[in-house]
Amino acid sequence: MGVRTGAQYLRDLNQSPRELWIDGRRITGAVADDPAFRRIAASIAGLYDLQHQPDLHEEMTYPSPSTGDRVGLSFLTPRTKEDLARRRRMMQHWANFSGGIMGRTPDYLNSDLMALASASSFFNQNDPRFGDNVRRYYEYVRENDLCLTHTLINPQSNRAVGPSQQSDPYIAARVVEKTSAGVVIRGARMLATLPLADEILVFPSTVIRATEDDKPYAYAFSLPCSTAGLRFICRESFDYGRPEFDHPLASRFEEMDAMVVFDDVLVPWDRVFLLENGELCNRLYPDTDATVHMTHQVVVKNIAKAEFILGVASSIVDMIGIEQFQHVQEKIAEMIIAVETQKAFILASEANAHENQYGVMTPDWTPLNIARNTFPKVYPRLVEIVQQLGASGLMAIPTARDLSEPTLRRDIDRFYQARNTDAATRIRLFRLAWDLALSSFAGRQVLYERFFFGDPVRMAGALYFSYDKQPMKDRVAAFLERTPIPSPE
Ligand SMILES: Cc1cc2nc3c(=O)[nH]c(=O)nc-3n(C[C@H](O)[C@H](O)[C@H](O)COP(=O)(O)OP(=O)(O)OC[C@H]3O[C@@H](n4cnc5c(N)ncnc54)[C@H](O)[C@@H]3O)c2cc1C
Repeated sequence: MGVRTGAQYLRDLNQSPRELWIDGRRITGAVADDPAFRRIAASIAGLYDLQHQPDLHEEMTYPSPSTGDRVGLSFLTPRTKEDLARRRRMMQHWANFSGGIMGRTPDYLNSDLMALASASSFFNQNDPRFGDNVRRYYEYVRENDLCLTHTLINPQSNRAVGPSQQSDPYIAARVVEKTSAGVVIRGARMLATLPLADEILVFPSTVIRATEDDKPYAYAFSLPCSTAGLRFICRESFDYGRPEFDHPLASRFEEMDAMVVFDDVLVPWDRVFLLENGELCNRLYPDTDATVHMTHQVVVKNIAKAEFILGVASSIVDMIGIEQFQHVQEKIAEMIIAVETQKAFILASEANAHENQYGVMTPDWTPLNIARNTFPKVYPRLVEIVQQLGASGLMAIPTARDLSEPTLRRDIDRFYQARNTDAATRIRLFRLAWDLALSSFAGRQVLYERFFFGDPVRMAGALYFSYDKQPMKDRVAAFLERTPIPSPE
């Protein structure tokens, strides 16, 4: 079929009704037309349309190896460093569409799936059928240009013990039984961003103990989001239905997060990739290099996001005339450093890429690992700088309705103007800054960057243990050797 258009995505969404709950209400009609989801659905459709834009079509697609139809370039299995650069350039178009605000452009999980499919022999260690399942699934998603979400984490109930030791062994989703048709799953997973995806990957993440008790929690599979028994319980929406002028980001990019409940859901055998093997589940990401390719995409998003915030902050500086203050220059410099270090990380990862055991050109992990450890701390700081520079101006932001009121408008035009611009233009920028730095949408973005790619504390621990510190320790030891230790007198 090749790349979808936005209209095709919206049609498919409406034709695959899922059990989606929000604010006590089950969505029964067309999801793409529901007030809670209409505008994010339109934004996702906008991403799909970009692939058809004449000036971008070539750069965002490539001929399918199986049909020759043009498919999305984030499915391309990179064989050369130039392929990695092509993937990056394609991903930049999707990232810049929302200023990096959308975390779940489809390339995020397309990259995951591409890496998993190329490592299909890994899954055969569990069952000879599973490798084929992964490869066929990748082709199915690629050829139909589907959008995926994923859920990796067990509900938070009690982190002191594992899933089998909770007060109820069916809090965390687990295998109930295996039948000739497939595997039945009961329980829940915590958080899937973008429940408007076509399909969901239900994969391992936290370490699974290789015990009999934890075996039912060890699996990887995929399902259409419209599967019977699959229920998405959404958090409240931060798209309050306000005009784009008022909530420029929340009105467009509210991706939504949902708890996922499995009410005895049947997973057909051809959708099972790993089963009841904790050891393979724990090795899934490192052994397939999926994390590396996902991080390559994440850093592209980080660059777009940091550049967007730098643009907003610099515009505020110009507009209200604060560029002469040294601390302002220092803060903007801090933002520039954030942008340029993320760029350096991605280019270093491509320059030092290597072919992995599956013949895939794989970016160097160290710079990407540093990037993913850095950004959860950098992003809240970028938001803080917007607050520090915007100051009370971030509270002087009349709404579209205020601007439409003639009596108020006279005051607004006079008192809200900026050094080099009229009041309405100033307010439009400051409302964007507010939606980046202060609104409920902005708060969720900060939480997202802190956690979506894993617990930063445990990511730092993984870096500590995986980084080879020995050469540095040897150099210090050699240096110290040149300094005699005094003997007792
Ligand atoms: C906005 C948002 C969107 C998300 N979207 C998705 C998604 O689409 N799909 C998905 O699968 N996940 C998603 N996540 C979940 C994300 O993967 C987790 O937030 C992350 O892995 C951390 O897990 P947790 O939230 O369960 O925190 P917890 O594990 O409950 O941790 C809570 C606190 O306890 C500490 N802690 C807990 N256990 C340990 C430990 N063993 N060692 C040290 N410290 C510990 C943590 O450091 C943290 O401070 C999303 C999260 C957010 C916030």
